[in-house]
Amino acid sequence: MSLESWWLSYSELLKQVLLTLFAFVCLERFIPIQRSHSINALIFNVSYKILNLGLVLCLIPSFALIAQKIKVMLHAGYIRWPAPGSLDLFQTILWCLAYAFIWDLLQYAGHRMQHSIPFLFEIHKFHHAERALNASSTGRKHILEHIFEEFTIVLPLILIFSDPVLPVIVQSLFFNGWGYFNHMNARIDLGPLTSIVSGPQFHRIHHSIDSKHYNKNFAAFFPFIDQIFGTYYKPSAEEYPDTGLEDRDDVHNLLFVYVEPLKNWSSAIIKLLSNSWRTHSEPT
Ligand SMILES: [Zn+2]
Ligand SMILES: [Zn+2]
Repeated sequence: MSLESWWLSYSELLKQVLLTLFAFVCLERFIPIQRSHSINALIFNVSYKILNLGLVLCLIPSFALIAQKIKVMLHAGYIRWPAPGSLDLFQTILWCLAYAFIWDLLQYAGHRMQHSIPFLFEIHKFHHAERALNASSTGRKHILEHIFEEFTIVLPLILIFSDPVLPVIVQSLFFNGWGYFNHMNARIDLGPLTSIVSGPQFHRIHHSIDSKHYNKNFAAFFPFIDQIFGTYYKPSAEEYPDTGLEDRDDVHNLLFVYVEPLKNWSSAIIKLLSNSWRTHSEPT
């Protein structure tokens, strides 16, 4: 990717991100769950997103190359996406829903792994450290988490589907807009739809600081995936818990955020090695 094409993609994506975020932040003002959010938390999330988006865009060409090589090697692309124009509206909706469902199944598996394996939770911790959960929190994803998702969500999808063509509206709704919606600091109760469609209340439970909500509601779009695998928690009508991590403050420092997993992994390895050395050197 040349610098010029990188800049064109970056500036276009950044414009979309900032406009979408602005719309959601305005909407949050009408029915907020927490009224006392500091502007500094929002500024930090936006700054992080501006920086991280540029870094993620630098990685995409290398990932695309690797994915393509694996696809050719495995003769993958097993489900051929119908040619554009060959489907009616109902069929298009079904294909898009099937694609989003498989995306969410893969997301569910990777997400649950991140919560189950402490080594992997280090790259997801930054997302969960948010105390003032709001629409901008969706962009709080460590660069290593992006790479993890490229291999656990994007690559399997590339291998499953051959040349998927998603209508722009579906792409915008599912993959650009939904994250802003379900992280909103907004008292939105979806009622009977809560167990079918992921909304701000459903996802807030996943971010809850209360231990009774830990490891619940992993799905990004379809809460019934949590029901299938026994991790669904149905929030009661007025249940909007505080969010964040009990053992980690939300640190608004870009360098700290990027370095934290590496620092914690190093400490864990040193501890493991010194424990094993102590065990082996103890007199029997
Ligand atoms: Zn999570
Ligand atoms: Zn989240």
